[in-house]
Amino acid sequence: MKRISILGSTGSIGVSTLDIVSRFPERFEIVGLAAGGNIDLLKEQIGRFRPSYVSVSEEAAALSLKGMDCHVLHGIEGAIAVATAPEADMVVSAIVGAAGLVPTVAAIKAGKEIALANKETLVMAGELVIREAREAGVNILPVDSEHSAIFQSIVGHNKDEIKRLILTASGGPFLNYPMEKLKGATPADALNHPNWQMGKKITVDSASLMNKGLEVIEARWLFDIPADRIDVHIHPQSIIHSMVEYIDGSVMAQMGIPDMRIPISYALSYPERLPVSLPSLNLLEIEKLTFMKPDHERFPCLNLAYNALMAGGTMTAVLNAANEIAVDAFLNGRIGFTEIPEIIDKVMSSHKNGAASHVDDILRADLWARGKAKEIIKGGNS
Ligand code: MG
Repeated sequence: MKRISILGSTGSIGVSTLDIVSRFPERFEIVGLAAGGNIDLLKEQIGRFRPSYVSVSEEAAALSLKGMDCHVLHGIEGAIAVATAPEADMVVSAIVGAAGLVPTVAAIKAGKEIALANKETLVMAGELVIREAREAGVNILPVDSEHSAIFQSIVGHNKDEIKRLILTASGGPFLNYPMEKLKGATPADALNHPNWQMGKKITVDSASLMNKGLEVIEARWLFDIPADRIDVHIHPQSIIHSMVEYIDGSVMAQMGIPDMRIPISYALSYPERLPVSLPSLNLLEIEKLTFMKPDHERFPCLNLAYNALMAGGTMTAVLNAANEIAVDAFLNGRIGFTEIPEIIDKVMSSHKNGAASHVDDILRADLWARGKAKEIIKGGNS
């Protein structure tokens, strides 16, 4: 029996994780759930999965859970308590954004195996997090579909023989959108993703290709491969989830229907595979798999992410924080879609880069970048 805590249980990854858990009650048990503000769904999850620990963002929401048969906590301390619950073997880290970093680091220090969906943890603090995981003897198992694909294509191979990683990207809803209309693209246009059902923030990141940029940074730390050996191919069908090229010319790819329950189940049961009854991939029906280079003029966010990774230090945390603020402003109608990379670029240009040796350095850079991005958006001079 594997005992699991989930950080971000009411989000898209959290819900899919609980779907897998409910299919294999003899293998998995839920110890803790941490969620944001979706209290109705959380109540339903508590009733079904009977966790010992529950945490929500706000104290008021915690009060509304009084009387339920579990320890109810709130805020960052609550999320940390769920992440470090003594009974938990594994923590699924699926809080969206920078908020996932601190509880995930706490779980690693407590020796919990990590199923990592929160890419921001590695974007902000990759070097530090990988070092902590090594010191604690903790496995970090990727949940992100691309990283799960690479992980599955590396298992059983010699890492020294890897030539490069190839991350695939669907290209999102704006792949063939007229360039001149991109400026006026609305949140509804950006949220209309062709292949994947995901939360709002990550769907906008997919539309701008920032999601792929964040994934390049994530891959750099997870697999210890430098940026110049990580490539991105646009692959609109989202069937090949990523690839690894070896020095002899062989390329290993992982394929499957675009359903997050596949990478989630692999992370939960690794090194075994679970008999998840999902529809088979039907290549005869799909017929064609196509690939193309990313258009950097249309999608400047991808190069911003490579630049941040090359700069190192706190720059990737700054990239991430500026992006979170810009995406939020876009979703709230305060800026246009093409202003997202402009704002991030300005914030990065005015950042005095420094070492990211401690979580505090990273959180300070994160806070600074949020303030700077808000200032630029307010000034309207993006
Ligand atoms: Mg992904």
